[in-house]
Amino acid sequence: MREDEFATEPDFEKGRFELNTTNMKTIEPQSGTGFKLKKGEYLKVVCPEGEQVADLVAYREDDMTEFLSNGKTFDYEETIYLSTGNILYSNKSKEMLEIVLDTCGRHDFLLAPCCPETFKKLYDNVAEHPSCRNNLYESLKEYGIEAHTIPTAFNIFMKVDVNKEGKLHVKRPKAKAGDQIVFRAHMDMVIGLTACSAEKTNNGTLKSINYQVLTLEEFTKENQTRQKT
Ligand SMILES: [Zn+2]
Repeated sequence: MREDEFATEPDFEKGRFELNTTNMKTIEPQSGTGFKLKKGEYLKVVCPEGEQVADLVAYREDDMTEFLSNGKTFDYEETIYLSTGNILYSNKSKEMLEIVLDTCGRHDFLLAPCCPETFKKLYDNVAEHPSCRNNLYESLKEYGIEAHTIPTAFNIFMKVDVNKEGKLHVKRPKAKAGDQIVFRAHMDMVIGLTACSAEKTNNGTLKSINYQVLTLEEFTKENQTRQKT
């Protein structure tokens, strides 16, 4: 018997799953996209090369005044470190997205999407610079969203450490190549998703992000294949 046949648990830490990008869409570096996600569907977000953050915002499809809220989520989930089993709530206290799979285990829900002012304040860069806020706005304006109303995003794969004094430190993302997070939708939504544009957040290099919307059947089938790997 080969040694690896003893391995019954998926080796999430090493991210060794073969990445099949056939059915996945790609968000190019420093860009974003918007799409609809129906109740009961699954959204898979993959870090193809490792160390790349993806900002996610979500709005209720039939009422865009309801959107993802970090404050409500912290309140109900009683943690700032959200992973498998946690639910992301709306500003109207409704369940929006449930994390059903997470091979990375570390994300951020504290910091707002990077915006042109971020680069002026934190990067001494007064020149035009792509940003998650603007990419989310460009991707969602057809749904009536205004730039200043875009809330704090769920920053997939972003690592922000909080020390004892409460000081925040943005660290290199923990995500390795092939790491993924899967959400189950609890309502019909409009989703905005980016490949983050901020160099410091992504350990110096700006990379792409993959994503895919799956049905329950597709997610179940994929997960069964995974367990047998
Ligand atoms: Zn960003």
